[in-house]
Amino acid sequence: MNWTPTILRIRDISIKMHITFLLLLAFEAWIWSTHGVTGIAFGIGLTVLLFTCVILHELGHALVARALGIPVREILLLPIGGIAYLTKTPKTPRDELLIAIAGPLVNVVIALCLLPFVGTSSSIVDFPGPESAPTVNLLLTGLYSANIMLVLFNLLPAFPLDGGRILRAALAMVISERNATTYATVIGQGVAVVIGTISVMSGQIFLAITALFIFFSAGSERGETRARSLLVTRRVGDAYNHMALSLSPADRTSRVVDLILTSYQPDFAVMQGNTILGIVTRAHVLEALATEPVDQYVAAIMNRDFVRVPHTMTLDEVRMTIAAASDEVAAVFNGKEYLGLVSLVDIDEALAVIDYVDRNKSLTA
Ligand SMILES: [Zn+2]
Repeated sequence: MNWTPTILRIRDISIKMHITFLLLLAFEAWIWSTHGVTGIAFGIGLTVLLFTCVILHELGHALVARALGIPVREILLLPIGGIAYLTKTPKTPRDELLIAIAGPLVNVVIALCLLPFVGTSSSIVDFPGPESAPTVNLLLTGLYSANIMLVLFNLLPAFPLDGGRILRAALAMVISERNATTYATVIGQGVAVVIGTISVMSGQIFLAITALFIFFSAGSERGETRARSLLVTRRVGDAYNHMALSLSPADRTSRVVDLILTSYQPDFAVMQGNTILGIVTRAHVLEALATEPVDQYVAAIMNRDFVRVPHTMTLDEVRMTIAAASDEVAAVFNGKEYLGLVSLVDIDEALAVIDYVDRNKSLTA
């Protein structure tokens, strides 16, 4: 079952809605149903318009990101808000700042447009509840308040909310990106704990879920940034497998099975002299065994269209290049000379070692 069907496509950005969003619609229709059919229409209309504002907010991020050379794959709508998925991380703190600020700015503009229709008696954060009669004026006032709340909420310095990204970008202009991320995510987790506690005490379920989401996202962003900052310090030329066994095109799958079982090496270069013809992975062999019971030549099952990387590339760049090709392994070259293979698993293992060395260095320094 597709939990996130695409509801709209704007140029190359697909806008997807999580199916649980329908529960929120049903819930709003139900609480407004005390006013009959008009109430139900009001509840659904308010929710749809509110989420249109959320989509516009995410499009604000997406369009600025694209203008800065970072295409946006998709925007996902969850009952707790929206997320715009960038295909790359912003290159500079300035770019991250501009992308982060664009979203809340859209809501400021929407709120300003609604301002003339807002009754003077209502306070700025006066979101309508079913105790009021459903009128057009209430709808506009409710949307105005919602946009103000979206701005205030998103500007909380709680990574990965926009405010947290703005904080990290501002810090990264004066200290290293890694330290900026550490501070921003720790502050974000602190804010998430405060929001979580308040929301549990006041019985606000959606807010409590959002607080949990913030807490865990901040933690995983910190891990990812640390991984990136460590992997950019090493070049793949110093971290590929020099000792790897290789195959000749005339070898058969049975020999690869033997080699996998006796060496635990999962990926093999198929070589003719000093030239690499292709790569055979454990997955290729298993697939070949499952579909063709005969003992095939490795030349028939190898991947000839493999990822090639220069030995000067950093492990972080290699990791991104392999992932972008939806592959698992790359061949490392010095000019035209083939050096060896490196896989995502190798890079993860290298990361564990570099991380250990780095932590011990900081303990003894
Ligand atoms: Zn945002």
